[in-house]
Amino acid sequence: MNLTLDQIQDFKGKYPKQIWSLFFSEMWERFCFYGMRGMLVFFMISQLNLGEKEANLQYGATQAFVYAFTFVGGLFADKILGFRKSLFWGGILMIIGSLILALDPHQFFFLGISFTVVGTGFFKPNISTMVGKLYKKGDNRTDAGFSLFYAGINLGALLGGYLCIAIGKGELLSHLIPEGLHWNVAFGLAAVVMVISLVNFIFTQRRLGPIGLQPLKVLKNGELVSMEKWKEYGVYALSLLFIPMIMVMVAKTQYTDYFMYAVGPLTLLYLFYEMSKVSKSERSKLMAALIFILFSIIFWGIYEQSGGSLSIFAAHNLNNDLLGLDPNGVNNSGGAFFILLVAIPIGLLWIWLSKKKLEPNTIIKFGLGFIFLGLGFYAIFATQFFANAAGVTSLSLFTIALFIITLGEMCLSPIGLSIMTKLSTQKLQGMMMGMWFLASAYGQYVAGLIGANMATAREDASNIEKLHAYTSGYKELGLYAVIAGVILILISPLVKKLMQEVR
Ligand code: GLN
Repeated sequence: MNLTLDQIQDFKGKYPKQIWSLFFSEMWERFCFYGMRGMLVFFMISQLNLGEKEANLQYGATQAFVYAFTFVGGLFADKILGFRKSLFWGGILMIIGSLILALDPHQFFFLGISFTVVGTGFFKPNISTMVGKLYKKGDNRTDAGFSLFYAGINLGALLGGYLCIAIGKGELLSHLIPEGLHWNVAFGLAAVVMVISLVNFIFTQRRLGPIGLQPLKVLKNGELVSMEKWKEYGVYALSLLFIPMIMVMVAKTQYTDYFMYAVGPLTLLYLFYEMSKVSKSERSKLMAALIFILFSIIFWGIYEQSGGSLSIFAAHNLNNDLLGLDPNGVNNSGGAFFILLVAIPIGLLWIWLSKKKLEPNTIIKFGLGFIFLGLGFYAIFATQFFANAAGVTSLSLFTIALFIITLGEMCLSPIGLSIMTKLSTQKLQGMMMGMWFLASAYGQYVAGLIGANMATAREDASNIEKLHAYTSGYKELGLYAVIAGVILILISPLVKKLMQEVR
């Protein structure tokens, strides 16, 4: 069955059926990624005997690199590999990385992690781009599709984030796993699910028709021929060369700073170079995409407090008045849980509003995303009014705040993926998706700086002082988010103009 693009895109109902294949592959990839991410800091401290600060810095470095390499992965997909081969290559690197960790996590920790970093760079942006390809330009079901896909992301994140660390620590299945092998099994599980992700893709990819195939080379006479093999192997070789480089940079975290200073400006220059080669109308759409990308850095910088300062806040300042749950557990997985709850209804809401001609356009959705984010942080601020004399406040209230933040995430993150595919030119799809995630790398980076700032100022303070210091910090962040949202809504006519027919 060789489907054409039109046959795929002319689907009936709410979702194209191919989306399920991408949903499951991405779900397992996120399981592997978040499983590993959840283990990093704990493993570095308890098994590699790193200090807390060092472990956190190295964790931050891996997160920055992981999202920075999505740009490289997207770029090579556009130019040489195509999305499918990139996804395979990335998946294979992730499997190798997890296997190395499963074999001997103590000895080869940074080697394994570096394989995973580069692998994610090739996998993550390109699977998202393929989701966009399932839709015709202007199909108002696209955002709903990305919402569904986002539910898959979070299902994987929730399962992986919970299971891997629980197995590693010996809290789960410990009677089945020989003593001393818990970590090997936990990392091994990441490898197994990544194999499932790729096998699922191998068996379902034929239904993708021409989507994601390797780009053809245009000869001077206009003839199309296949890409030279040496270029493809060159990309594979080059990506292997990145691995020792990442190992060095993660181990010496000041290199991460230099890397972050350099990579953003360089990618911007490269984008401007590519923009000089396209038509005026395409250029203006790319400019709009860049505005979304730049704003998303602010969003993630605030949002990603969850991995940093909010985990300290949860540990010191929250009780367990919500079903006796552990506050850190709620902080770590509450967001993913709420996404699973609201992703599909929100997607369907977009379709319903669009039928009534009431669907807000992307820029307004982004603005709403910021406003929800801001309100969520105000709600965290408000928890201080419910604290006892020891500076401990209500987890239930905090959970409501988390829910509001999740609504913000749903208005921005899947919509961002969707708009990247709509605003990019045909030949820059992977690269622009990579840039979208690169903004996340900067967001993580900024989040670390904000968090460190909030933490160090009050190290010797009492718990109640800490509560006030943190919550007033969150109030400030809430204010910035609301301001960013209002600015977005105010500049919406300008961005709309840049976006032209895209909504
Ligand atoms: N949580 C989402 C994912 O893992 C978004 C990540 C991001 O862009 N920072 O895909």
